Amino acid sequence: MSENQVQSTLKDTLVELDKKHFIHPTSSLKQQQESGPPFIFTEGKGVYLTDISGKKVLEGMSSLWNVNVGYGRKELAEAARDQMEKLAFTNSFSSFSNEPAIRLAAKLAEITPCDLNAVFFTSGGSESNDTAYKLVRHYWKLKGSPQKTKIISRKKGYHGVNIGATSATGISPFHQMTSSLAPDFLHVDTFSTDALRDCIAKEGADTIAAFISEPVQGAGGVNIAPDGYFQEVRKICDENNILFIADEVITGFGRTGKLFACEHYNVVPDVLLLAKGITSGYIQLGAVVLTERIHKELIALSDGVLLHGYTYSGHATACAVALKNLEIIEKENLVENSRLMGEKLLNGFKKIQAEVDIVGEVRALGLIGAVEIIDPVTNNRFPTLISPKVSAECAKRGLIVRTVGFEGMDTVVFSPPLVINKQEIDELISILRDSLLAVQNSL
Ligand code: PLP
Repeated sequence: MSENQVQSTLKDTLVELDKKHFIHPTSSLKQQQESGPPFIFTEGKGVYLTDISGKKVLEGMSSLWNVNVGYGRKELAEAARDQMEKLAFTNSFSSFSNEPAIRLAAKLAEITPCDLNAVFFTSGGSESNDTAYKLVRHYWKLKGSPQKTKIISRKKGYHGVNIGATSATGISPFHQMTSSLAPDFLHVDTFSTDALRDCIAKEGADTIAAFISEPVQGAGGVNIAPDGYFQEVRKICDENNILFIADEVITGFGRTGKLFACEHYNVVPDVLLLAKGITSGYIQLGAVVLTERIHKELIALSDGVLLHGYTYSGHATACAVALKNLEIIEKENLVENSRLMGEKLLNGFKKIQAEVDIVGEVRALGLIGAVEIIDPVTNNRFPTLISPKVSAECAKRGLIVRTVGFEGMDTVVFSPPLVINKQEIDELISILRDSLLAVQNSL
């Protein structure tokens, strides 16, 4: 057999095994059975992935908004190997500790804004969310206000898939997937501070534990707050004795052109949620960062064991990889690159907008952006979703993007690795333009 034939037989075998045994997250079970996985990736380097057929694609999404330092980083593999050889893992229960977890907690305290100084480790964004909901309720309970239980989040917000995180998520199909959600979650309009005030007045501030939002909504379509919104939110929370949780699972670690997106708004949350870019996806890790004030109050008021924790909280290997990842982000000035390349990306979107009729609003903040698809005749959405056709055309031409088609959106979203350079942005824009024109001509 030639090498090509061997590859093709291997691919067929893997496709059959995939269909039979692999239940994919956020995927159509039927479509998987009909067409199998669209890609079986085997290698990555920089902003490119290669699949089993040898096809090379530009990763316009950093996988799930998270491979910030790009693919194929030997330094991260070495950091993991070195730590695994020494001590892969021990638990952090009963105050047991390990050096990478201690050093990472201290590093996060140093680089996060103001007095965000105390870290609880998780294994991802959903766990960071559920941890935060429990910690803020625990905090109020210790402070003598056990009735402060409600969490207000926003429509189109995405916070993950654990039961608490699903309940906080403001995208209805995620709710409809299951038959029962957690109690005490409320949703307000995305950018309306009046809606937030009304909700607090209706429910009573003394029943509300926290307000949570992403500084830039990611999975809900890359929605960027208008000027002044978060400053007003911070004020409302302070006036009503409500904690403000910023979910920076996507936006943290340089994605928006600042190390943390809340720095764009000069707002410091009481609780900061992290995951994804903390290790650039090389290994699972998340974190919940509390202000020193809250940490000190918890210490002073605590009356026993903090009964919350995951086996993998403070995982030594994951923390060692995170430390190396943060070193790379600093050394290679990736936050600044995100800002500069983000401007170029947005300029590219604007040029396309001027040329292609089915492109509506375009937006980006650093290297997170979106292109809306509209019917130029009505200036509204087409009756059927068009963005999946755009994504299919992009994939054909070697570019991976994602689409958002719920809550009235028909949007293509982008979040390339922070290492992307000018030529690669040009390539992304050129493929996107050709794909949009191909779709437009087919309508
Ligand atoms: N929060 C935000 C803002 C997210 O975008 C995500 C995932 O996309 C999550 C939380 C959930 O993170 P994970 O998938 O790591 O559980």
